[in-house]
Amino acid sequence: MIKTEKIVHLKSSRGRKVRVVREHYLRQHVPCYSSLCQARCNNDGQVLSGDVTHYVFPDVGVVVDYQEVLEVAGLRGVVFTQTACHAVQHGKGRRQYNRLRGLLKDPRHDCVLFANEFQEYAYCSREKGESQDKWHNRCVYSAAVWYHDHLAGVKPVVMITEDVSAVAEYSSLHSGIYIVSMQEYLQNFWPELQAAQDLYCSISQTLQEKESEGTEREYTEHLPSEVLEAGIKSGRYIQGTLNVNKHRAQNEAFVRLEGSSNKNTDLNSDVLVSGGKSRNRAVHGDTVVVELLPRSEWSGRAMALSEGQGEDKPPESIQSQPMPTGRVVGILQRNWRDYVVTFPPKEETQSRNSRRILATPWDQRIPKIRISTQQADALQDHRVVVRMDSWESTSLYPNGHSVRVLGRAGELETEIQTILIENSIHILPFSEAQLREMPANSPENPWRADAAARRDLRESHLVFSIDPRGCEDVDDTLSVRSLPGGERLELGVHIADVTHFVPEGSLTDLEARTRATTYYLADRRYDMLPAVLSADLCSLLGGVDRYAMSVIWELDTRTLAVHKVWYGRTLIRSSYQLHYELAQALLNGEPAQVLELTRLEPDQRDAKLAQLTEALEMLTHVARHLRAQRDQGGALELEGVEVRAQLDEDKNITALVPREPLEVHETVAECMIYANHWVARKIQESFPQQALLRYHPPPRQEYFNQLVDSATARGFTINTRSNKDLAKSLDQAVDPKDPLVNRLLRVMATQAMSNALYVSTGSIPQDQYYHYGLALDRYTHFTSPIRRYADVVVHRLLTAAISLDQDSDPSKPLASNKELEVMAQHINKKNQAAQRTQKLSTELFQCLYFKDKDPLTDPCCVADAIMYSIRANGFLVFIPQYGLKGAVYVKNREGQVVSAGQDGTCEWQSGSVHRYPDHISTVCSAGTTTFSLFHHITVRISVQPSRCHSDSLHLEVLSNTPHQSPPEPADLPGPQHRGSTQLVQEVVRLAEEATQQAQEKAAQGNRLSREERAFRQTKGPNLYSLLEEVRELALMDMQACGTGGGGLLGLIGQAGCTTSA
Ligand SMILES: [Zn+2]
Repeated sequence: MIKTEKIVHLKSSRGRKVRVVREHYLRQHVPCYSSLCQARCNNDGQVLSGDVTHYVFPDVGVVVDYQEVLEVAGLRGVVFTQTACHAVQHGKGRRQYNRLRGLLKDPRHDCVLFANEFQEYAYCSREKGESQDKWHNRCVYSAAVWYHDHLAGVKPVVMITEDVSAVAEYSSLHSGIYIVSMQEYLQNFWPELQAAQDLYCSISQTLQEKESEGTEREYTEHLPSEVLEAGIKSGRYIQGTLNVNKHRAQNEAFVRLEGSSNKNTDLNSDVLVSGGKSRNRAVHGDTVVVELLPRSEWSGRAMALSEGQGEDKPPESIQSQPMPTGRVVGILQRNWRDYVVTFPPKEETQSRNSRRILATPWDQRIPKIRISTQQADALQDHRVVVRMDSWESTSLYPNGHSVRVLGRAGELETEIQTILIENSIHILPFSEAQLREMPANSPENPWRADAAARRDLRESHLVFSIDPRGCEDVDDTLSVRSLPGGERLELGVHIADVTHFVPEGSLTDLEARTRATTYYLADRRYDMLPAVLSADLCSLLGGVDRYAMSVIWELDTRTLAVHKVWYGRTLIRSSYQLHYELAQALLNGEPAQVLELTRLEPDQRDAKLAQLTEALEMLTHVARHLRAQRDQGGALELEGVEVRAQLDEDKNITALVPREPLEVHETVAECMIYANHWVARKIQESFPQQALLRYHPPPRQEYFNQLVDSATARGFTINTRSNKDLAKSLDQAVDPKDPLVNRLLRVMATQAMSNALYVSTGSIPQDQYYHYGLALDRYTHFTSPIRRYADVVVHRLLTAAISLDQDSDPSKPLASNKELEVMAQHINKKNQAAQRTQKLSTELFQCLYFKDKDPLTDPCCVADAIMYSIRANGFLVFIPQYGLKGAVYVKNREGQVVSAGQDGTCEWQSGSVHRYPDHISTVCSAGTTTFSLFHHITVRISVQPSRCHSDSLHLEVLSNTPHQSPPEPADLPGPQHRGSTQLVQEVVRLAEEATQQAQEKAAQGNRLSREERAFRQTKGPNLYSLLEEVRELALMDMQACGTGGGGLLGLIGQAGCTTSA
């Protein structure tokens, strides 16, 4: 080893340059991390693949400026030098450096780090008078040469640089080494990666423009980080996350305080940041530091409903009194993501410097972004993904660059992609490398089960599944039987053994972890696992051998007390794949045809049918008992399973009013809850500090105010003291004439609650593990590993707990509490994104549906609505026919109010509004009009189009009496029966027709189908199974609940509480 000195120039946090001399040790053996290595390097971990045409060394400038391009999926064989990584670390800040480290660790990217500065023969020391750039170039070149020679010249090496002089200097020095510019490189070596080339152009454009920044200051400078930290410590400043009010994005933002860092302040509310100057370049989501203004300068928040509002969560009492108000003095962390923007129309761009365009983000909370581009004309009316680069104090707006074009605004595909990106969901098709990990299963080479190391239940147990009709991914099955002697019952829950096929750390595992869940949109879904697993090998289909993870209880026949629980891997063969209706029919003794039995002789068939029916009856008996136990503990029935009514042909039932849900739903749900609970116990007891649980904290009492007040207005008493009281009083709050009243009260109760969340047991005290909604002391998710990553984690924990019982070492060390907590947060975040995406896609479909209809003439646009909340200048309604919610205003911008005539017909007149707890009145010369809670009114639905944001629905009151729809021909489904199902289908059909036409028009339809392949992995328009799955997504977050159109899906989501919250 050779000792030498290395001189580096670092930038201090104040921006001063510091010269540092470091001891530097050189060695002969530094791993090359190439699979082609013949020199027996100690290449531990990830290595570069050998099946590329070349290896590439980006120089320092390229890594610093174009790291994003190097991140593009598909660009392979990249060697990052230590020299370049240091430059990123010291020159670009923590965010970019962390991204680089993440890239190097991610096995899905074919790239490695080469520690060139430790390699005796690759390292070059800096020469006297040599500029840093020159020296860096020489280091990377020298590393490239060493690498090429080390691999005995078997692979050509390309060095990319934006430095023209370097190209000239090094080009012809060494055969096998090629020096090219970034642009040449992309064009010649990766012509198929259009995304990389587009990104390159947009970034280089931005870099060129950057030099011509103005110097006039628009904002106060941010304070240096030492000053901020000292100020937070002393209590002079406050740290928190900036939340911009969507409805007043220009003016109103709040800083939500963050836990421990604010010990020294006695504030317990958010801090208001009013106006752009005070916000001082902070962007929604950033971690900021604020300074409180003197009390005399405090102001209050604006209170009245504003257009498009109405979905705000717990409607706080009208408070406009001054609140703590502050200004941003610094930013601790930028939390910028990818944003979708819309470019302005031509007229607006030609007047000014046309290369810099102010684009408007889709998210109203984000400021306009200045983009340098020469494609402004081509991009107008398109949605484009952009990233923000910087926001200097001299610039009124942040600067950014475009990443890729999504398509024309308003088109279905564009809008769906917009929704995904806005929720940071990036789904690429499963890569070939991932798919290679999948077990083979073809007619010639079928997959075969192996009974070794598994309990074989194929002969001994009658196993069956009960799912929605047409379900492909069956992740749970059941078994039940009396044990010999008659004293004991045995109940079994058998779940797809996903972790057998998805080893921890495999590419499939990493991809599933990143996705964290299957995403259900209104018209499609994106699976967490490749189809070969989710629809085949992991799916517990009937009549085939499958691997399962089982929980088997021995219960006392009479008391159903648990005598014994067995957990372990099993081999099963499901005998029956039932659907809910069929199972219920068997239970009811109705004639039913069981597919699996159709070929048998009558005698045999009757015997088998009797056996199956007996099992179903036993199961129902057990589930009733379990449910009763939880009811005693205070389990909440929040929203019944009203999906059923969706497909019901009974013309008397409107789309969303449920008929009685089938008991068998609850039976299956109860067994799953039981399994989840027992697995939670097992893993928590085995790993008290590092097990993954799902907990549901009790809600804050004040959140129940709206529920209690609204119920009181209707003459009901709601007791919210405990979950048990709440459940009981909700059960009693029934209006026999209007079942909607009870459902709306339950919706409000759900809105008042917080989300159920995943947590690592070591992160919260044990007395907080309690699941409020389910009334269980411990709970987790175990039963849906095909579509939830949390369940995959839990399966691994359960496997480890089982090996612990058997005194064998788990094959892999468990994740620590801290690591597991990070994972839990990630999954929580992705679940929220999944819920938001789903809600937004539903709203998109609702808008697309109404878009082509003339609200003045089309009867579809007039509907019955029920009022469920009173606001200052209007109220919130629910429209059962379309499953949507929204705000109705009784006062408009001109100050006119809604006034109803003799027959209830409304018109606008000048007057005033008066709000009461249970009604709102308008007074004008014609008299007083009253709108009362839970009353039905008639509204007109129209679309409020928006160029840059999503369209929204506008509701206008037509009459303060219920809507009388004209009678429909009996055999035609009228608007009354048009739920979201038909709505989605109709919109999809129109969109597909449009696509088809476009394809026919442009004879080269290749591009479109390629995009379709990329984005539509699974097209599952089966809304029925979708809704079933949606229920399981979890308790809806409050935002998603009180939506202006969370609609059917929103309501169903809340039912998650009763089934698998
Ligand atoms: Zn080597």
